[in-house]
Amino acid sequence: MPLSSPFPDLKIPKCNLLEYLFPKGQAPTETPIWIDARDTNHHLTPKTLLQWSKRLALGLDRLGSKQGEVVMIFTPNHIFVPVAYLGIVGSKRVFSGANPAYTVSEMVHQITNTEAQYILAHPTLAKTALTAARRAGLPEGRISLFSDTVNTSTADSRDWREWLPSPAEADAYSFPPLSEEDATKTIATVNYSSGTTGLPKGVEVSHYNLIANLDQTIYMRYLKKPWDHTNHPREVWLGFLPLYHAYAQLYTIAMAQKLQIPVYIMKQFHYEEFLSAIQVYRVTHLQVAPPIMIMLSKRAETKKYDLSSITDILCGSAPLSKELQTEISKKLDCEIVQGWGMTEVTCGAIHVPGGTLDDSGSVGQLDPNCECKLLDDEGNEVPDGQPGELYVRGPNICLGYWRNPQATKETLSPDGWLRSGDIAVCRNSWFWIVDRKKELIKVNGLQVAPAELEAVLLECDPVADAAVVGITLDEQEWPRAYVTLKDEHKGTIAETHIHDYMKEKVAKHKQLVGGIMFVDEVPKLLSGKIKRALVKQWAKRDAERM
Ligand code: AMP
Repeated sequence: MPLSSPFPDLKIPKCNLLEYLFPKGQAPTETPIWIDARDTNHHLTPKTLLQWSKRLALGLDRLGSKQGEVVMIFTPNHIFVPVAYLGIVGSKRVFSGANPAYTVSEMVHQITNTEAQYILAHPTLAKTALTAARRAGLPEGRISLFSDTVNTSTADSRDWREWLPSPAEADAYSFPPLSEEDATKTIATVNYSSGTTGLPKGVEVSHYNLIANLDQTIYMRYLKKPWDHTNHPREVWLGFLPLYHAYAQLYTIAMAQKLQIPVYIMKQFHYEEFLSAIQVYRVTHLQVAPPIMIMLSKRAETKKYDLSSITDILCGSAPLSKELQTEISKKLDCEIVQGWGMTEVTCGAIHVPGGTLDDSGSVGQLDPNCECKLLDDEGNEVPDGQPGELYVRGPNICLGYWRNPQATKETLSPDGWLRSGDIAVCRNSWFWIVDRKKELIKVNGLQVAPAELEAVLLECDPVADAAVVGITLDEQEWPRAYVTLKDEHKGTIAETHIHDYMKEKVAKHKQLVGGIMFVDEVPKLLSGKIKRALVKQWAKRDAERM
C-alpha cells in the first residue's frame, strides 16, 4: 500500500499562477519585497513588479512572441529576474533559466533543446549568449540585454527596456486567464535536470504544479506556527540561491510575494557579504543547501558577524548529516529543518514541519496531497525501516520532460508515479534519504550529470573512454573521472591537459575537482553500459587514500 501524507488534503486552486499570486480585486501592496542587497534604494514592490511584468508580457506580444514559446533567462540574480519570471509565465509563455556560469556549448544545448525563441541575457554574458544563439540558429535580434539598470544597446542586441510599452499601456493589459483544465496542462517553467539518468532534460512544470507546491510548502513551514500577516513576527529572507533553479524560484519569487516577505537579493554569492547581509538586514530565515552549512561550521569569518536574528534554516537539495545539522543549530541557536525535493516535483515533496525540533537527520514527512512508495530492485514495496527507491505522486509532480517522451516514459508512470532515483527509509511516516541510485552528482547543491561529462570527455582528442562518478571529500561531493587514453597518447598526456580542456567546455561546478585518474580500461557491462557501482567503489577507495 502506498503511503499517504499524514496531513489533510489541501484544496488547491487551478488558475494562472499570476492570478493566484495577485488575486483580482486585491490591490498589490507598495512595500518593498525584492530589494537589492547592495543598494536597498533599488527595490520592487508587488505593485511595481506587477507593472513591470505586464510591460514585459505586452512587449513580448508586440515583438511577435507567441504563447507556449520558451523565453530563456541567462543572468546572475537581480531584482528584475522575478519580473521576467512572472511576466513570461503569466502571459502563458514558458520560463527557462540558464546557469550564468554556462559555456557557449552548454547554452547551445539549452537553446536548441528548449527551442527558445527569445533570450534575456545579462550584458556581461551577452557575448556567450550571442555566440550560442548564432550556433543554435536563433537570430541575433532575439537576444535582449537584461539587467537591473538601463544598458546601452549594441549593434547586436537591444536593451529589453527599449521594447517595453509605457507603464500606462501596461496598466490596461490583463494576464490571460486559465481554465481549471488549462491550468493543469499549461507549462509555466522548464528548468533543467538529468533525472535518474542521461543528459540534462527540461522539466515541464505547470501553473497548477507551482500553485500546489507553493500551498504544500507553506502548509509544512507554518504547520506549528501558523502564518498570519497581523501577528506573525516579521520575516526577512536573503535571496542568494540562483534564480534559474526551482528552489529559488519557489521561495524568492513566488512565496515572497504570496506571504509578502521582504527578500534581499544577492547578485553573487560571496560568503562575507552573505554574513554581513544577515547582520545588517536582520535576516530571520534562510533557505540553504549543505555547502552553506559547511561554511557556517568551518569558515573563521562566521564568528565575525552577528547572526542572532536567524530563527530557522531550511536545508535541502543534497544530504546533510545530523551531526552538522545539530552543530549549526547549537552554534546559531536556531531551528534547522530539512526538506527533500527535486526539480521534477516542482521544488519539494517532503519537509520537516516548521517548528519541529529535529536532530535525527530526517528530511521530514510527506507534504499534503502527496503519496509515496519505497520499492526494492524487484519493484516490491519494502517494509517500514527498510531502504527502497522513492516514488512520489501528487499535484506537484511535473508533466514530463520537454520534447522527450522516452525520458518521460522512463520516469513517470501512466498513473502518475515519479521515480526519484533516491533511496529512502521510512519510519512511522518520517523519511531519511540514505543513498542515491541514480547517476547524479550534486556540487554546491547543483546538478552534475555524469553522462554529460563523459560525452564531453569523449570529444577530447586523446581520450578513448571515460567514466565519471561522484567522490565525497570533507562532506562535499565532486565529479571524478576515470579516463582511458588512446594508445598513442599514453604517457604523454597529463591530467592538466584534460582539466584545461574541461574549463573551456563546461561550467565551474562541473569541473573535475574530484580528480582525474588514468586507467587501462573503463569497466563495462556486455551492453556497453559503464559498471557504475564498480567505479563508485574505486572512488570510495580513492577518497580514503586522499
Ligand atoms: P534538483 O532537481 O537539482 O533539486 O536535485 C534533486 C536531487 O537532489 C534529489 O533527487 C536528491 O538526489 C537530492 N536531494 C534533494 N534534497 C535532498 C535532501 N534533503 N537530502 C539528500 N538529497 C537530496
